[in-house]
Amino acid sequence: MRRTIFLGPPGAGKGTQAKLLADFCQIPHIATGDLLRAAVANQTKLGKRAQEYMERGDLVPDNLLLGMVAHRLEEPDAANGWVLDGFPRNVVQAEFLEELLGQINQPSDWVIDLEVPDETVIARTLKRGRADDNEVTIRHRLEVYREQTAPLIEYYSQRNHLVSINGDRPVEEVAAALKQAIIT
Ligand code: ADP
Repeated sequence: MRRTIFLGPPGAGKGTQAKLLADFCQIPHIATGDLLRAAVANQTKLGKRAQEYMERGDLVPDNLLLGMVAHRLEEPDAANGWVLDGFPRNVVQAEFLEELLGQINQPSDWVIDLEVPDETVIARTLKRGRADDNEVTIRHRLEVYREQTAPLIEYYSQRNHLVSINGDRPVEEVAAALKQAIIT
């Protein structure tokens, strides 16, 4: 349970559950969306380049993102474990991550697939009201998820401990199911 990857569509509740789990285990919650939004807010070189992709609901190009993730995973606080949220989001990122974790001898322990139907995703994200949370962008993010990220479920089911959790329930119920599945 020390190194957990969260998969699932936008608005599945990955952020909420990943944060609860990270706090419970006292390890960092590493969310690429949060890192990217901070870069945009600070108008760093990376942030300026990532912004247009995020506003459209497209994935930020791998070449902008991979170094940022590697850097974060190599910080001292990540040595005891982490909960990764929003990364990997395509096969190139998954292969990069596997290679990186192999090099630093920290393979992931679990991959959680948080399953939520499209209608719930749309309702939840519209309520959230983030800058990229309008219905057109959300539908586009769902398409991007289906095309690029969903294949990772198959990818990880062949490699890691993949655990599917029904995310279409109240926060506490999902959290309880998650703990039961991975904390023994
Ligand atoms: P959500 O999961 O609700 O869509 P995130 O905060 O995870 O929200 O992501 C917001 C946006 O940040 C994405 O739509 C995408 O543009 C960008 N992003 C986050 N993680 C990645 C990633 N691993 N690869 C490419 N782009 C990413």
